[in-house]
Amino acid sequence: MNLHEYQAKEIIAAYGIPIPRGRVALTSDQVERAAKEFGGRCVVKAQIHAGGRGKAGGVRLVHHPEQAQDVGKELFGKRLVTHQTGPEGLKVRRILVEEAVEIAREFYLSITLDRASSRYCLIASAEGGVDIEEVAAKSPEKIHILTIDPFFGLRPYQARQIALALGLAGSLCEDCVNLILNLYRVCLEKDCFLAEINPLVVTKAGWLMAMDAKITFDDNAIFRHREYPDMMDYSQLDPLEINAGKYDLAYIKLDGTIGCLVNGAGLAMATLDVLKEFGGEPANFLDVGGGASREKVAEAFKIILQDDDVKGIFVNIFGGIMRCDVIAQGIIEAANEVHCPLPIVVRMDGSRVEEGKKLLLESGLNVQCGDSLGDAAQRIVSMLS
Ligand code: GDP
Ligand code: MN
Repeated sequence: MNLHEYQAKEIIAAYGIPIPRGRVALTSDQVERAAKEFGGRCVVKAQIHAGGRGKAGGVRLVHHPEQAQDVGKELFGKRLVTHQTGPEGLKVRRILVEEAVEIAREFYLSITLDRASSRYCLIASAEGGVDIEEVAAKSPEKIHILTIDPFFGLRPYQARQIALALGLAGSLCEDCVNLILNLYRVCLEKDCFLAEINPLVVTKAGWLMAMDAKITFDDNAIFRHREYPDMMDYSQLDPLEINAGKYDLAYIKLDGTIGCLVNGAGLAMATLDVLKEFGGEPANFLDVGGGASREKVAEAFKIILQDDDVKGIFVNIFGGIMRCDVIAQGIIEAANEVHCPLPIVVRMDGSRVEEGKKLLLESGLNVQCGDSLGDAAQRIVSMLS
């Protein structure tokens, strides 16, 4: 689960990490009022669930409240496209207005979960800022990485080594040690998958400050953080993904034309592979789970049909816990309810498979049953080509 910059900043500020003064605005009038409060000179920042905003015109330094208001008018409602959003971009509905800070130096700092070692690892660089990806690719030796032992935790001497490696000395170095230790506490206590400050800056006045923050919570830990769901901004998600979430379906939009309804993630991946093998392009990855009910299958079917890119549907179900006739009923119910005109190819196997196939073939829908996975995949691909 991703947060907005302003939410991430609220969290790190609560852990003692300095951030610029700021206000979240929902209208361009609020942008103007916030800018006035900070004396006119301020930074207007589009809040979307993606980075790279600076280079895409989503972070702007302004000098007067009226100018801030104009930028607000321009940004609100706009779909901001950055190198992280994909071509559709993400809609700007919240704007963070912050007092402008004079920056002397910029650093990159993050703590993230390293899946290979199953440990948190700290990443820091004295170069980077908005070009951190380039530094990582071209001169990886400039990036300091420290794997944190979960038993001992992050020790102050280790944080100090990092601060020194960043070229900080004296009281700034000690401020940085505390900041790093505090960021580690954020990760532990909030169950973060990622906590990133980019850029971390030294201001011209000589203070350490987080100018940007990104936090991703570990979805598996949501059950122990009652505050998480309220922090979710659903406007940043694909509406079909939200709907899928409500019914506990794993749905991911892809860019092909074949809608896939499958039970089990492994089977879903195998299905995509087989479709590709025969030259087909899947429109989505949709896993209804092992023990899907009739209602769940019906919801999944409706989600697939709401995607305009879908030109045909491929159902690949193994009825182990689920009976094939029950699944067939779910499909027929949903297809009739939304008047599905698209061709459907079904590959089913498992308990009560004959009953299931019979129900489908007698349903009056534009449906065919394949004899095997390969046969069924070939059928749907050739129907659409
Ligand atoms: P991102 O591009 O989405 O990562 O957005 P950031 O919040 O990191 O902003 C992009 C860049 O704008 C930063 O790397 C800074 O260099 C610059 N920036 C952000 N806030 C300020 C500010 O208050 N003063 C100045 N001078 N630059 C800022
Ligand atoms: Mn940034």
